[in-house]
Amino acid sequence: MMKRSETLFERACKTIPGGVNSPVRAGKSVDMNPLFIDEAAGAIIRDVDGNEYIDYVGSWGPMILGHAHPEVVAAIRERISRGTSYGAPTELEVIMAETIVEMVPSIEMVRMVNSGTEAAMSAIRLARGVTGRKMIVKFDGCYHGHADSLLVSAGSGVATLGIPGSPGVPEDLVRHTLSLPFNDMKALNSAFDRYGPDIACIIVEPIPGNMGVIIPDVDFLKGLREIATAFGALLIFDEVISGFRVAPGGAQELYGIGPDLTCLGKIIGGGLPVGAYGGKPEFMLRMAPEGDIYQAGTLSGNPLAMAAGIATLTVLRQGDLYPKLEKMGNALFSGLASLAGNAGIPVVVNHVGSMGSLFFTDAPVLDFVTAKASDARRFKQYYRSMREHGMYLAPSPFEAGFISAAHTEEMIEKTLNAAASAFKEMLN
Ligand SMILES: *Cc1c(COP(=O)(O)O)cnc(C)c1O
Repeated sequence: MMKRSETLFERACKTIPGGVNSPVRAGKSVDMNPLFIDEAAGAIIRDVDGNEYIDYVGSWGPMILGHAHPEVVAAIRERISRGTSYGAPTELEVIMAETIVEMVPSIEMVRMVNSGTEAAMSAIRLARGVTGRKMIVKFDGCYHGHADSLLVSAGSGVATLGIPGSPGVPEDLVRHTLSLPFNDMKALNSAFDRYGPDIACIIVEPIPGNMGVIIPDVDFLKGLREIATAFGALLIFDEVISGFRVAPGGAQELYGIGPDLTCLGKIIGGGLPVGAYGGKPEFMLRMAPEGDIYQAGTLSGNPLAMAAGIATLTVLRQGDLYPKLEKMGNALFSGLASLAGNAGIPVVVNHVGSMGSLFFTDAPVLDFVTAKASDARRFKQYYRSMREHGMYLAPSPFEAGFISAAHTEEMIEKTLNAAASAFKEMLN
């Protein structure tokens, strides 16, 4: 008899392209079909066949408190019977904005949108509007959503599927995007030597998570700040993953670097669709209706998303969660590195707190080129074996793994045991 996940996938493929509503879910690069999920609680996710897994995907980053956190569920429940969207301002939006401003060092004003894609797209429009310039600088392997001018050497599903650009993106637009190697100050300097006066902004994931996790050279991040200031370009930190993940105020708090604009998403929605971009009033007040740069959204600041997001941020602020996440991150990621080492399998493990990646390679992974040098066949073996052992991982070496506050030491131990078996099987 066919499993329900299999039957559903077959059905899905008839009416949904590739059977999925976002390419990263498909599992094409590991030759496996996606699991269809029935429910999740805490760190455990259960598929429609009744199999339970320890979840390291966390909906690709948002679920830092774990699934169905009681306070998030209560907040949504409290709002839902009072209407789900009004298209008019609510107190929740004010609380959300105030919370973000208090938590994220460089943000003084913020606009809510519905996805990280929209946040990055809008921040770039703002940077272009403010500077009157067209060109943007991004970095190979960084992903900022699927807006046209950002789909150049992008990470995440674009990297997993090996797509260099995308049909449907006009060359006229891509012409204005410079994609440079991450952590490479020399390449950045020469790009600015050549195009500096035409560059509107630098957009960067300060801790890249979409080519697998890359540890930033802090001097490189400082260099971005300096060169942007020197040339009058805006520095945009895309903290859609790192925001509220690596510290309450994201990577900018962790490294003490102030961008001009910040993109947020994922965690601030507590698992509901959301995004945001913010920065100094001198820039943010250029947005309509106060200013002349246009951006809008029917469902922006949606009351359910705000309620879930505020509840999540409130728990994050009150609890002593970051040291715990850090401790578990260290246990898991250094555990993986030493187990692989014991088994004689070359790996590089990069992690910052509770986000991290395992690369099957023996050379340091510092950028997209070195990330892509990792062994895809070994990753596939690892992924398949881990799934058989009840571990739900992102089906791609170019994604981050996430630990939530609901993960326990016992779960980490179980995961390490599973990894030890996976490494052993790999040698056969
Ligand atoms: C996920 C992600 C996005 C896109 O967010 P969506 O909500 O999927 O549109 C943008 N930037 C980064 C760094 C991301 O990880």
